[in-house]
Amino acid sequence: TARGLQNPIIVTDENVAKFHLEKMQNLLQAKAVIIPAGEEHKNLETVSRLWKAFLENGLDRKSTVIAFGGGVVGDLAGFAASTYMRGVDWIAVPTTLLAMVDASIGGKTGFDLPEGKNLIGSFHPPKLVLADPSLLLTLSDRDLRSGMAEVVKHGIIADPELFAFCANGMDWVKNNLEDVVKRAMAVKIHIIEEDPYEKGIRATLNLGHTVGHAVELVSGFKLTHGESVAIGMAVEAAYAVRVGVAVRGVDEAIESTLSNLGLPTRIPEELSREEIIRAMRVDKKKNAKSIRFALPMEIGRVELVDVTNLEEVL
Ligand code: NAD
Repeated sequence: TARGLQNPIIVTDENVAKFHLEKMQNLLQAKAVIIPAGEEHKNLETVSRLWKAFLENGLDRKSTVIAFGGGVVGDLAGFAASTYMRGVDWIAVPTTLLAMVDASIGGKTGFDLPEGKNLIGSFHPPKLVLADPSLLLTLSDRDLRSGMAEVVKHGIIADPELFAFCANGMDWVKNNLEDVVKRAMAVKIHIIEEDPYEKGIRATLNLGHTVGHAVELVSGFKLTHGESVAIGMAVEAAYAVRVGVAVRGVDEAIESTLSNLGLPTRIPEELSREEIIRAMRVDKKKNAKSIRFALPMEIGRVELVDVTNLEEVL
């Protein structure tokens, strides 16, 4: 028994292990399984490795899995926990900004297929989420910026003041990480408490993700999730203004805030528009004829709009 947990096991990736695993293991007296880092390993093969590692380490239905890493580790460890022996408890200890403010909250777990991201998954909320902003000090600049895309998203959805803070740029963010994390987490917690299974308003969290997921996939994951979402938000906001559903200027506000954070706002020229449209159609949340977008109406208000003409969005 470590800290009241029966036979806990830490799941982490090689980068997080390098910086933080020793301390965590000493603290918890727990075993650890280290998986390779990166979205390209968020697949069934890694899930199988985790199931086997759980077996080899004697985990039973009372054991607890501790996901110690970014969104990739959380999604994989959470999914493995949700299916191992029909479900064991897990705890999320997110180590990226993106995982703290987004991926660790809301109970979605899963992995990618070659055809698309997150096509297989389950709802299996962690028993506890422990977000310690000091873990972010070892995060690369690129990953920190990427996480800010989801923070901006949460500002646009429900916290205009947080959105305004984001416009101050990365230096301000680095000096105010605790506040940034707390406020951005609060937005998502509030939404998923109201709509845990995405029957309604939870879908507003998909802001930027319809275009974003497609861009991420077509880039062959050269763009990070956060960078792709930044592009997605800018493109979708521009569309919303162009078709007249959004308040004028909301697109410029979003674009300039993202740029101030060093995030991209345009689809790279070399990515095929046709492939992006095809990828949007495969994305799991959409039915065939039209695709439901979460579009920003103004800062602080996002609405769901069905779009049939995808060319027009790009
Ligand atoms: P990630 O887990 O790949 O982490 C990014 C990089 O940072 C990796 O190389 C990782 O090894 C490294 N890293 C992590 N913590 C570190 C630290 N403290 N110091 C140094 N390096 C560190 O990616 P991510 O951006 O955290 O998450 C993206 C994933 O999350 C995507 O797969 C996305 O689909 C998923 N996601 C899930 C949900 C959900 O609701 N389940 C929501 C949003 C995103």
